[in-house]
Amino acid sequence: MITVRVGLGHDTHRLVEGRPLLLGGVLVAHARGLSGHSDGDIVLHALTDALLGAAGLGDIGDAYPDSDPKWKDADSRLFLRETLARLDGADWRVVNLDVIIFAQEPKLGPIKADIRDNLARLLGLDAGAVNVKAKTGEHVGHIGRAEAMACQVVALIERIQP
Ligand code: MG
Repeated sequence: MITVRVGLGHDTHRLVEGRPLLLGGVLVAHARGLSGHSDGDIVLHALTDALLGAAGLGDIGDAYPDSDPKWKDADSRLFLRETLARLDGADWRVVNLDVIIFAQEPKLGPIKADIRDNLARLLGLDAGAVNVKAKTGEHVGHIGRAEAMACQVVALIERIQP
């Protein structure tokens, strides 16, 4: 019987003026934020997609379509919370995750721990089960030109034993 599964999530959003920058539910001081139908939190979107994938539940676009006005400017913690409830209902729990945020600016080194701690809190995990890494775009491509940010998440889930 298979008792663990892995899921992969990815998201990219454009950086624009006049939006707050939210990363993993943490408000980051920056001149620009991420565009999107919801609050544009690439970390929570990639995490939600990784968890849906691990549980074989499709993707965030199916679950929370951006054509639905219900999700306009939505707090992305809602997507994560509802997805965690779906996993729990299917007897899965999260074991650990590894997160990479791709951003030319601002420098994320000083706030990686804040993002990790907030993700751990949202998931009910020890901080040691959540890892957050940050990479620049080396000044090339859409990340390097600071036109966009991206995030990748890999998540392991395990079957809750009765
Ligand atoms: Mg997204």
